Amino acid sequence: MTSQLAVTLRDIYRARRTILPSVRVTPLVPSPDLSHRIGASVFLKLETLQQTGSFKIRGATNRLVRLNADERGRGVVAVSTGNHGRAVAHAARTLGIRTTVCMSSLVPQNKLAAIRDAGADVRIVGHAQDDAEEEAKRLTQEENMIAVHPFDHPHIIAGQGVIGVELLEDLPDIDCLLVGLSGGGLISGIAIALKAASPQTRVIGVSMERGPAMFHSIKAGKPVLVEEQKTLADSLGGGIGLDNRYTFALVQQYVDDIILVTEQQIAAAMAYLYRSDRVIAEGGGSVGVAALLHDLVPNVRGNIVCVISGGNIDMEQFTRIINGKYTFD
Ligand SMILES: *Cc1c(COP(=O)(O)O)cnc(C)c1O
Repeated sequence: MTSQLAVTLRDIYRARRTILPSVRVTPLVPSPDLSHRIGASVFLKLETLQQTGSFKIRGATNRLVRLNADERGRGVVAVSTGNHGRAVAHAARTLGIRTTVCMSSLVPQNKLAAIRDAGADVRIVGHAQDDAEEEAKRLTQEENMIAVHPFDHPHIIAGQGVIGVELLEDLPDIDCLLVGLSGGGLISGIAIALKAASPQTRVIGVSMERGPAMFHSIKAGKPVLVEEQKTLADSLGGGIGLDNRYTFALVQQYVDDIILVTEQQIAAAMAYLYRSDRVIAEGGGSVGVAALLHDLVPNVRGNIVCVISGGNIDMEQFTRIINGKYTFD
């Protein structure tokens, strides 16, 4: 397996230098109420404050800056449930690269509009990520565009991993890290950095019960297909790819546990984050807090970090959630 050396701590430090001019260093803030509730010190890494509203700008920027002139000229194509497309569109516009984003009809309207606003050409295809992937493949084969994968590429993983380096600077002693897990680029990158500094730090991925592709793949011992379902954590939807090259093996190696949360638990965490910390997080950004709030994390003690990975949520939906008026289907 190439994965063992696919991304190193040095690659993450390189990525840090690469993205520093255009990506924010986000704050790590204590969450007093949650800390009191669970009896450990909880900190929130606020990627909600990142440009484009999620951490995905980190990986996207690192990947695009490293393209050569020929590749930049061909334009890039991304398949996205929203945040990746928005990040790629934003980073590409900064670098003067043409972007096409393919997505399924499951993507919420607010995310679609944001991608268009960032200057990308948007194509809606089918009802699942797989259909959008077919269209992207066609664009790379017939129009010679460069595919920018949302997680399964060393430059993407290293870019997301910069979060790990920032965390170590702010809080060198982390006992447990909770991160939203979908394709696994985010958790792999952070885990490589954290485990290099302290192998005893527990790294826990949190996914939704509705279609947790990495969870089932890890259980099966190989990438498997999982049916995509509607969920509040839409940014965690989609598969890991049957031809996964990097993240599956990295998650196998670096992630200690995967916890699943229900739609109700996600909604409760979103409302909680707003009430107690004044943080507006989307479903996928709230799953770590959902796991803590509902006592799903074993052995909570010491310093616990939740990566609040994104804040892109439709305001009407958000208002319903914090007012307890959201209807689960
Ligand atoms: C993409 C995304 C994740 C998961 O990242 P992966 O690298 O696919 O595991 C988590 N939270 C938010 C808000 C995201 O957009």
